[in-house]
Amino acid sequence: MGTAYFNGKLLPKDEIKISPDDRGFLFADGIYEVVRWYEGFFYDMSSHMTRLKRSLRELRINWPEADSFPIFAYDLIKLNKLENQPAMVYLQVTRGAARRSHSFPSPEVPPTVYACAWGFVPDSQLKETGIKVMLKEDIRWSRCDIKSVALLPNTMSFQEAHENGLKECIFVRNGFITEGSHSNIFFVIDGTLFTHPESNHVLSGITRKNIIRIAEDSGIKIREEALQENRIRLIQEVFITNTSAEVTPVTELGGNTLGEGVPGPVTRFIRDKFDNEIKALKG
Ligand code: PMP
Repeated sequence: MGTAYFNGKLLPKDEIKISPDDRGFLFADGIYEVVRWYEGFFYDMSSHMTRLKRSLRELRINWPEADSFPIFAYDLIKLNKLENQPAMVYLQVTRGAARRSHSFPSPEVPPTVYACAWGFVPDSQLKETGIKVMLKEDIRWSRCDIKSVALLPNTMSFQEAHENGLKECIFVRNGFITEGSHSNIFFVIDGTLFTHPESNHVLSGITRKNIIRIAEDSGIKIREEALQENRIRLIQEVFITNTSAEVTPVTELGGNTLGEGVPGPVTRFIRDKFDNEIKALKG
């Protein structure tokens, strides 16, 4: 089971006890963050910290020790003997335990803070061949910019993709493609890279932000602009981004084969640039 972090302590995961009155359990009243460990460092921890604090602020959850996250995240890597392999650290902070009421607890109660780590084997095959994804109406709320643990629309939509042998579900809201159930999405049209602008309809992905930087530094034209679903036939290439799968090419979107049905040149260029950045950081 390994060692986990719970309210200031590192302890065996199976010793953790969370109240049934925890608002995370009752209302999904909490936020989370996921960081990637690359055999020696967390990738862009400072951006994850900025997003974590923003999520807490937006939901008015008070966790004064937020700055301790990078320290105990590293403790979890060490204690679980994950230093020399790819790993993820998951953090969740809820508003804490209190008698069930829609209003926030008054007086305030301490937040519940839980974190754990696990090692994994990255799927390098999918980054090479690409994936097929489905399109579906965005059934989520209007604050997708907050990394809230209320992920039922995401898990239901992803499950639908999974049951159809597809690797991601991409959402469409009011005719515009927003993002995936757990990824951001980029399009290539005539050499220009498009992605949905930061807004309340998408999560500001840390990978998204770094891909925009990499594209700009490489002289690739980038437009943060939402794309209408009815313009799919104009798209030559698509890829999705997230912390665990990094840059993954998409070869089929909502039943439409993209380009030649294999990862295109801009996608491969961006993917390789990202991979090279990681290699350089590993030293
Ligand atoms: N959008 C959603 C809905 C997500 O769940 C994720 C994964 N956290 C992303 C985008 C990508 O974000 P990141 O690059 O920070 O992992």
